[in-house]
Amino acid sequence: MSRVHNFCAGPCTLPVEVLEEVQTEFLDFRGSGMSLVELSHRSAEYDDVHEAALKLFRDVFEVPEDFEILFLQGGATLLFSLVPMNLLGDGERAGYVRSGTWGKGAVRDAAFHGDVYVAWDGEPHGFTRMPRDDDLDVHAGTRYLHVTSNETIEGIRMAAFPSVDVPIVGDMSSDYVSRPIPWERFDLVYGGTQKNLGPAGLAVVLVRKEALVERQLGSYLRFDRHAEGRSLMNTPPMFAIYLMGKVLGWIRGLGGVRAMEERARRRSSMVYGAIEESGGFYRSPVDPTDRSLMNIVFRTPTDELDAAFLKGAEAEGLMNLKGHRSVGGMRASIYNAMTDEGVDALVEHMRGFREANT
Ligand code: PMP
Repeated sequence: MSRVHNFCAGPCTLPVEVLEEVQTEFLDFRGSGMSLVELSHRSAEYDDVHEAALKLFRDVFEVPEDFEILFLQGGATLLFSLVPMNLLGDGERAGYVRSGTWGKGAVRDAAFHGDVYVAWDGEPHGFTRMPRDDDLDVHAGTRYLHVTSNETIEGIRMAAFPSVDVPIVGDMSSDYVSRPIPWERFDLVYGGTQKNLGPAGLAVVLVRKEALVERQLGSYLRFDRHAEGRSLMNTPPMFAIYLMGKVLGWIRGLGGVRAMEERARRRSSMVYGAIEESGGFYRSPVDPTDRSLMNIVFRTPTDELDAAFLKGAEAEGLMNLKGHRSVGGMRASIYNAMTDEGVDALVEHMRGFREANT
C-alpha cells in the first residue's frame, strides 16, 4: 500500500489508523453478521455508535450542556438557509460578515429567508483580512451576527471571535474542532465534517437550547425536531457518523481540541516560516494576523513556476496543492489528520524548489 500526502481542502486526508479500523469492522460489525451500512438505524448496535459519537463530540470540543448537538445532511450549504429559517422570527434581522467566498455564500442564501445585512465586507480588501471589532457595523435589534471562522479558499481566519452585544453564529466548516471557542458568545456553530472530522455527507450543528423555536416548516428543516429526535427523527447518515466518531476518538487520544490547536499552530508556522525565509520567492497575500492555521495560500514569482512547483510536488507524493481556481497559486490544507511527515515533506519541497529556482 502506498499512501500519498493529501493536502486537499476537503474531503481530505483521514487518520490511517481510523481507516484501518473501519476496514476491519466493515463486513461484520461487532459480531452482528452485517456491515454497519446494512444495519437498521433503529438497531441497538447503531444506537451505541450514535450515542458514542454525540458524547465524543461534546467531550472533545468542550460543548456546554446547554447546547444541542445535531447531525444533519445537506452540508454547510443547506445550513446557509436553515440557520435564518430557524433563528429569525418575524421582524428580526441578522448581520453577516462577508469575509470571503463562504461568507459571501452564507449571506447570499440567507437573504432568501430573512432580513439580513452585511455588517462588514472584506471584498474591498481582496478578502485578505478579517474584521477587527471596530470594523463591524452591527445594527440595533440584530438577532445574530454570522461569521465564517476560517475562509477555506482565501486562507484567512478570525484569530479572535468578535466581542459584540449580539449572539454569534459561526460557520466553522474548515476549522471545526481545531480550536476552543468562547461558547458564551455563541448561539449556534455549524460545519461540514469532511475536513477535520470525517467523510462528506454529514454536517454538525451546535445550537443553544434557548435558541430553539418552533417554526412552521417541514420537519427536516426544523432544528427543534432534530433535537427532540436526537438526530434520529429520520434515517441519519450512519456511516459518516460512525466514521466521525472514530476520528473524534483519535482526537481525544491526542489530547482533544486544545492539542489540535497547538498542533495546528506548530505545523502552520513551519509552512509560513518557509514562506518568510524565502526572501520574497514565496508570497502570501494574507495579513499575518489573519493567517489561517488550516489552509495556507502562497505563490511563487510566476504562473510557470507555480505549475513547476505543483508538478514537482506530485512527483514526491504531495498531492492536491493547487489553489482554488478563483485565486490560483498554491493552497496547502493541513487539517487535523495531516501527518507531521506530510508537513515536513512539504517544507522540504518548498526549500528545495526555491534553491533550484533562484
Ligand atoms: N463553509 C466553508 C467555510 C467551507 O469551506 C465549505 C466547503 N468547502 C462550505 C461552507 C460548504 O460546505 P458543504 O460543501 O459541506 O456544503
